[in-house]
Order: sequence, then structure tokens, then C-alpha cells
Amino acid sequence: MTQSPTDRPVLVLNAGSSSLKYQLVVPESGEVRAAGLVERIGESGSEVADHSGALEAMRSQLQDAGIRLDEVPLRAVGHRVVHGGPDFSEPVVIDDGVLDRIKALSALAPLHNPAAVIGIEAARKRYDVPHVAIFDTAFFSSLPTEASTYAVPRDLAAKHSIRRYGFHGTSHQFVAHATAELLDRPVEDLRQVILHLGNGCSASAVRGGRAVETSMGLTPLQGLVMGTRSGDVDPGLHAYLAREAGMSLDEIDTLLNKKSGVLGLSGVNDFRELVQRVEAGDDDARLAFDVFVHRLKHYVGAYLAILGGADVLVFTAGIGQHSAPVRAAVAAGLGELGISIDDALNEAGSTEARVISPFGSRVVVAVVPTNEELAIARQTADLVG
Ligand code: ADP
Repeated sequence: MTQSPTDRPVLVLNAGSSSLKYQLVVPESGEVRAAGLVERIGESGSEVADHSGALEAMRSQLQDAGIRLDEVPLRAVGHRVVHGGPDFSEPVVIDDGVLDRIKALSALAPLHNPAAVIGIEAARKRYDVPHVAIFDTAFFSSLPTEASTYAVPRDLAAKHSIRRYGFHGTSHQFVAHATAELLDRPVEDLRQVILHLGNGCSASAVRGGRAVETSMGLTPLQGLVMGTRSGDVDPGLHAYLAREAGMSLDEIDTLLNKKSGVLGLSGVNDFRELVQRVEAGDDDARLAFDVFVHRLKHYVGAYLAILGGADVLVFTAGIGQHSAPVRAAVAAGLGELGISIDDALNEAGSTEARVISPFGSRVVVAVVPTNEELAIARQTADLVG
């Protein structure tokens, strides 16, 4: 049987330092032929020694699922890369020069880019098809200068590429378009405030399909309260902790990235567990929930001001899609700003994109599932034709 190009899947790879997420997706239809995760790469006692071993583990997982990857007519491989730095504002076909430039950006994303590079190198050796890099920062390369610039000396910022980059861009972009489809309106006509609330959390303001503000910054630590990340703190905190608590820069970095946020306040980072503890009357969990919501309201208000009002407020990712209490708490008291939620619509369990504001609301409130893998597959297919 001959296959038309539109039957041919894209392999989407998301390589972290110790994990590899994969999906085999047909971009046009969105059909997921297979999806999975290889964990504990390179850890002691693990059977998976490195990223090349992880690709081998993926191959055997697929074989167990009845898919012989060597015989799949792959169209391309799409790689998620966290940091595109100042260089990459669009998806790009990977050659040796591109790979060197991604490597050179590792200083900006030491936790993420090196793993992506190793994953790309291993995959290029195995799969003789075009490989494409999709950057988490790309959607935010359109931020106006006044939004992307930190108020630090300009020569220093230029020398070290210091600016707001933003992350989760693939998700924000996908959701901006999916929301326009849901509302049956051109994306060009919409002012959107998008809240991506997963393990990492970020907000964006999108006008006419272009990002004009976002809450993450030079690194994915800035902005909203997250599972283990503090989000915004006084920048003076670092110097204060160094002086008063005798902490090193690495210790402070680890504290704010891995031990703070919802985890630091309540002892748990999984939001389902947090909500259960709130309902059981746990004061620490209550405080974590309230701080999380307070920060969200802060950004919603800011982005309404940046956009001069919004047409739609969108919730996405694990918490945004599934936590009715968070959505209700964020919208509470915002009636004067045109934002309100219909409790029955909010609480109706659904996995579909849907509107949860009352009919005729000035600002539509929507829940729109994100799908980063499909977005990566589509952008990859668009580039390689
Ligand atoms: P990632 O950022 O890793 O892609 P997700 O988008 O899957 O993560 O979001 C993970 C978060 O979503 C976790 O904090 C999880 O507890 C939360 N979550 C998932 N389902 C629910 C639910 N039904 N209610 C509340 N939170 C949920």
C-alpha cells in the first residue's frame, strides 16, 4: 500500500536531562499513533545509560505496542528545545551549524538545553529524515521592546543576552489559535489573556495572535507561583540570603527552582493533593492556594491593562483544564472588569474546549486544552513540507 504524505507521522521528542517523552503524531489529523516516556536516563541502577539508550528503549516500547519504528515512514523528527535565545524566533531545520548554536545557548538554560542537544545528536544518528527544532521561546520573540527589556544597564544586557524571553510559547500559541476556533472568530480580532497552569505556570497577553507580554523571563523562574518554583520574588532576596543565611548562589538557585512555590509553602507540589488538603482544613495548603491565586489575579489585572481590556480569558494545562476551584477563585470579584464564571459550566467535567462564562459576558472565559506535541508536529511538517 502506498502512503500519501499526509498519512506519514512526525516523531515528536522532548528530551530532558533524565527523561525522554515521545509521540508519533500525524500532523493533519492529530492522530496519535503512539506516545510514551522513558525515565531515569543515566541514573544509578537504571537500564538506560544515556539518550541513545533512551531511543533504544523507545524503539522497544513501540515494538511491544506493535509498531516497528524502522518500518514507519517517518516524515521528520520534531524536537522540543526550551531556549532559543536571541537567535531563534522560528522553528528551524537542524544542521551542524544550528546544533552548535543551540549548544552555545546552554548558558541561558543550563537545566534544559544540554539535554535537548544530546537527544538531538542521538536521534540524528538513528533517523535519516529532517530534524526540526521547535523553541519554547519563539512565540515570545515578538514581545515589544518595552516588555522584553529589563531595567539594567544596556551594555551589560547586550553583552550577556539579558532580556525577557518567555517560555511555554508553543502552548500559548497553540491555545491562542484553538481559542479563536472555539469562539469562531479570527485570531486577528482577539485580545487574549492566557493562563498556562501545569507543573510550570505562565501567563501571556496576546493581541491579534501575537504575544505582547508574558510572565516568565530570562529563565522559566519568573512570574506565577508554580509547583516547586517561587515565581516573582524581590530581586534583593538573593543578596539577602547570601548575606544572612550564608547560602551560595547555587543553593539559592536550587531553593527557588526546586524547593519553593506550592511545595515550599505546603509540603506538596501536586495540585490535586493540594486541593484535597485545602478541603480537609490544612492551613499551609490554604495559604499556598491563596498565594497561587493572588499572583494569578495580579497578572490578569496587569494584562487587562496592557491589552486595554480583553475579549477572552483562557485557562489551559493540567491545573487550568482540570481545577474548577482555581478557575472560580481567579475569577471571583472580577465582575467589574467584565469577568465572571457560570458555576455549573465551570464544574461540568469535560475534556473539550469550552466556554465557562455566562452567555453575553463582556469577557469570555474559556477552558482550552493545550497540545504541545501536536503543535510541534504541525510546525515540523509545515517546515519540511
Ligand atoms: P506539565 O507542565 O508537566 O505538562 P501538566 O500540564 O500535566 O504538567 O499539569 C500538571 C499539574 O496539573 C499538576 O500539578 C497536577 O496536580 C495538576 N492536575 C492534573 N489534574 C488535575 C485535577 N483534576 N485537579 C487539579 N489539578 C490537576
